[in-house]
Amino acid sequence: MARKKTTVEEVPIVEEIVVEKEAVEAVPIVEGVIKPEVLVEVVERVIKREVEQRLAAWRPKTQLGKNVFEKKITNINEILEKGIKIKEPEIVDFLLPDMENELSLIGGRPGKGGGNQKTPIRISAKMHRSGRRMTSSAFAIVGNNNGIVGVGKGRGREGRLAVEKAIQKAKLNLIKVEKGCGSWECGCGGDHSIPFKIIGKAGSVTIRLLPAPRGVGLAVDNETKKILRLAGIKDIWGKTMGNTGTRYNLVKAVYNALKNLHKYKLGE
Ligand SMILES: [Zn+2]
Repeated sequence: MARKKTTVEEVPIVEEIVVEKEAVEAVPIVEGVIKPEVLVEVVERVIKREVEQRLAAWRPKTQLGKNVFEKKITNINEILEKGIKIKEPEIVDFLLPDMENELSLIGGRPGKGGGNQKTPIRISAKMHRSGRRMTSSAFAIVGNNNGIVGVGKGRGREGRLAVEKAIQKAKLNLIKVEKGCGSWECGCGGDHSIPFKIIGKAGSVTIRLLPAPRGVGLAVDNETKKILRLAGIKDIWGKTMGNTGTRYNLVKAVYNALKNLHKYKLGE
């Protein structure tokens, strides 16, 4: 369903949160403003229900989907290790029903006192012949807290649709994360960290991740923490360079670093 583009020019406006009626049912709203963490929780609940409904009605379209549906493939690693492209998000829902999601705070709106409050939905306006049209975008991270993680960006006319698309896309971008303990101070041989230091890049952002001994925790910023936590990494040191205010690029850089872990291990 391709929508005809009649964009004349892009006009960035102040970003704000838009919450649809369905998603805010039974949620306390103070002065018409909903807190980002509450929004995430509500959206997650709505999405969880939709995932269940979609899975119940799933008729696989791809051979991979059919193999999963007929339980010929029962482990996601069989797919990821062979580098087979997943084209149906239901494959992931079927094999990993306990996947968790997080939204990266890619949006922002002016807060009290001139600061900028970070939000999970970014709203932009485009000028069309028919007037100004608003688009929401979201950036989702999905993971099983144990070595499987993915990221995806979604756009839609409503915030919820953008989130749903982002989560579905993230499921199509799953990677297997090589965990380990490459810390000489620790040397436990476990998998609480990463096996060696690694670099990832996206846009102007570069992140360097280093193995850390047990107990250090995730010594990185909050957005980076989300993806590392969903990947199941417990201890790490990180150093970022470039414009880390672009949180989309920051999380993408971490994703690329985690992808590189696997690549270098295979000696590619
Ligand atoms: Zn260790």
